[in-house]
Amino acid sequence: MRVALVTGGIRGIGAAVAVQLKNDGYTVIANYVENEQGAEKFSSETDIPVERFDVSDVTICQEAIEKLQKRYGFIDTLIHNAGITRDNFMHKSTHDQWHDVINTNLNSCYYVTRPLIEKMRENHFGRIVFMSSINALKGQMGQTNYSASKAGIIGFAKSLALENAKKGITVNIVAPGYIDTDMTKGIPEKIKESIIEQIPSGRFGKPEEIAKAVSFFCQEGSAFITGETLNINGGQYLS
Ligand code: NDP
Repeated sequence: MRVALVTGGIRGIGAAVAVQLKNDGYTVIANYVENEQGAEKFSSETDIPVERFDVSDVTICQEAIEKLQKRYGFIDTLIHNAGITRDNFMHKSTHDQWHDVINTNLNSCYYVTRPLIEKMRENHFGRIVFMSSINALKGQMGQTNYSASKAGIIGFAKSLALENAKKGITVNIVAPGYIDTDMTKGIPEKIKESIIEQIPSGRFGKPEEIAKAVSFFCQEGSAFITGETLNINGGQYLS
């Protein structure tokens, strides 16, 4: 049976991905970092096991993922979805705002992939999907840290795709536009309205709409698609 690890998999887009992959027949492990209560609720509602570890810490990732490989065997699918924002104009921003976002969103790509990639190469099979963002491509005021981290993911993923294509491993990127999750819940109503005016579909996306695309990339039949970035943004930004 296919085994998938979904980081940040208990809420929002990650939760929708975890449920979609479970429905597709995978054994799914959903990771989270601090929301113990939410994780328990998610796990009891979906029957998906949850695993707490911080993707921004290299040693913790190494130990946690090795433990998971011992417990579940070969993890052939990685959806690296965990991410944070710490918005501020650059000239006002703090060092912590910069480093927290780069560590959690970008450095983590290395931290979670490194313990898995050698087994994928040995097995001549793997599916990896990274979660980028519309703001990696178009830029966004107040998000130099976030946009840099999400653009870095694309470069990381493309190079990883090239290195592993001959080994039956595909590496792709999903770049969502505005999606209805906790991350966007805090946007004030007035600003939300002005964003929606810029979205030809006239609404925010749903986590399930991102999950469908991730599921497609992970199929065995998607073996010839690698290094690709799929924009899912209701037409807000066409690159
Ligand atoms: P949410 O804020 O709803 O959920 C984020 C998830 O990531 C949570 O489960 C959280 O864990 C987990 N997480 C955060 N930091 C860490 C960490 N250090 N280690 C492990 N897990 C962590 O996010 P969304 O569902 O909205 O976003 C998911 C991804 O999609 C992110 O990468 C985001 O940048 C990207 N994205 C989202 C967009 C949107 O409009 N929502 C648009 C474009 C991209 P816990 O539950 O424990 O807090």
